[in-house]
Amino acid sequence: MKRKTKNGVFAAIRAAAVTHKTLSAGTLLCAAASVLASLLPPLLLARIIDDLTGGAPLVFAAALAYFGSLALEGVLSSAQETLLEMFGQKMTHALRSEMSRKLTSLSAATLSAQNPGEVAARFSGDVDTVEALFTSGVISMAADACRILSIFVVIAIKNTGLALLLLLVLPILAVFTRYVQKRMLSAQLENRRAVAAISGQVPEALHNIRTIHALGLEKYMEKRYDRRIGESYAAVEKTNFYDAIYSPVVLVLNAVVVGVVMLMSASGNAKVLTLFGMSVGTSVAVINYISRIFTPIETLGMEIQTIQSAMAGVKRIDAFLAQPERERPAEAGSAQPPRGQVTLSHVTFGYGERTVLSDLSFTVEAGQQATLVGRTGAGKSTVFKLLLGLYPPEKGRITIGGVDVSQITDRQRRSCVGCVEQHFARVPGTVLDQITLGDPLIPREMAENAAGLAGLTDTIRSFPAGFDTPCTDGMFSQGEWQLLSIARAAANPGVLLLDEITANLDAETEARVMEALRRACVGRTVLSISHRVYESLGGRIIEIKALDDASAERAC
Ligand code: ATP
Ligand code: MG
Repeated sequence: MKRKTKNGVFAAIRAAAVTHKTLSAGTLLCAAASVLASLLPPLLLARIIDDLTGGAPLVFAAALAYFGSLALEGVLSSAQETLLEMFGQKMTHALRSEMSRKLTSLSAATLSAQNPGEVAARFSGDVDTVEALFTSGVISMAADACRILSIFVVIAIKNTGLALLLLLVLPILAVFTRYVQKRMLSAQLENRRAVAAISGQVPEALHNIRTIHALGLEKYMEKRYDRRIGESYAAVEKTNFYDAIYSPVVLVLNAVVVGVVMLMSASGNAKVLTLFGMSVGTSVAVINYISRIFTPIETLGMEIQTIQSAMAGVKRIDAFLAQPERERPAEAGSAQPPRGQVTLSHVTFGYGERTVLSDLSFTVEAGQQATLVGRTGAGKSTVFKLLLGLYPPEKGRITIGGVDVSQITDRQRRSCVGCVEQHFARVPGTVLDQITLGDPLIPREMAENAAGLAGLTDTIRSFPAGFDTPCTDGMFSQGEWQLLSIARAAANPGVLLLDEITANLDAETEARVMEALRRACVGRTVLSISHRVYESLGGRIIEIKALDDASAERAC
């Protein structure tokens, strides 16, 4: 039975917010304080100017308070940004941890059905958009909305007429801003697509350069290249155009509003003055507030955009996190891993609709050797995947040392069964890490012995830091990688699975690998898929019949 998890992006975020309570509360408080602090400077400036125009001298404390309020505003706004950044980092860290936990919990069937590029995109691009949800999305949007609202309230108290005028102008500005931003974003996307296509064409042209010259395709390639460059140019032109018109429009609007308010407040009409009348100081404050209210409206549009694209990322990550997990037996303390006899009884298995193995039964006794034979595609490697517990059989039972493979825990599996394949999968780390794979159940001595069995001790000791030398691609020859693979597989387990390990090796290297195998296989149950291993180690032959062969035989 597969386990479904309810964990989604918001559950991971909620858990992280609870874990980092102080940071979460501090971020919110700082955002609120930053909003309030941005109201102060114009008010203090208004007071100073009113005092000066009233004939009072400039009070040092008042000037200090004004500059102090400016400094406070700056400090709080950068503190808000820093805290938001930290908050976003914590959230994305929690999200990435949850996603990597999920990745290791997915079944082999689910994983092999996924496109690796898409999974990688969930971890990088999508998580980044969710991070932006915090750094320049939800909280900043709430802060900007509060900023607009509070400035508006102050303006309404100071100058009712201006508040009414803003009620008329601000929605128009908001709509215009969104219009420009949407067009700029789509132009940027067009440009990105064109640039990606251009970047793709360069290596393509280099790769096919001989064919291009041989067939005289230079003009054709040039035209294709030119078309893409033209698309990119047109897209950049569009963004430049919107960029160029936006700021002047906002500035003109700002100036018009200020001009209208000033004209109205200077009019002699008593009715107009009840709405627009104000002192000199207040008029300075009001001009200041008008420009302050225009900026958050501009950023609000971008924040809405960030939230929209983050929600698309959230959806994709949620779909990834909602995938069913493989069934894992609970780790049973220090229970010894099962070793010895390998049994398949009446096993039927297929990938999806297509059955590969049908009613397959065989037993290999502890310490014995057996070779699986069968034509290509018969399902030999599939038997190994089932023994490794990567897929559950549809019918029948698979046991190692009498224990059902599905009941072997992840921790025990490494000491229970090891598999050597044609290609070595290198993990980041030292040479020792390649053998232990960071498994605490495989101490250094055991790993060094395994390297000895594989005949690699001298090669490894010749490296600058021996077993602790960082592992790199060119460090071993192809045959030596195969020997390292044997060392990794033979580090501890009782059962060894060898899948075509001598393919692609020259005669001399093959002899070296066989020698290593003879040592590594002593006292172990060995299942191999290789004629050469059979010739060298002996043992019994188990035939895996391809199902279409079997049905052809029945038909005869
Ligand atoms: P070969 O001798 O060529 O290595 P094999 O006997 O090891 O062949 P398997 O690799 O076990 O054959 O594959 C058996 C069948 O199952 C093949 O038809 C193969 O296409 C199919 N198969 C293997 N792995 C998968 C998978 N992950 N998803 C779907 N089908 C698969
Ligand atoms: Mg195979």
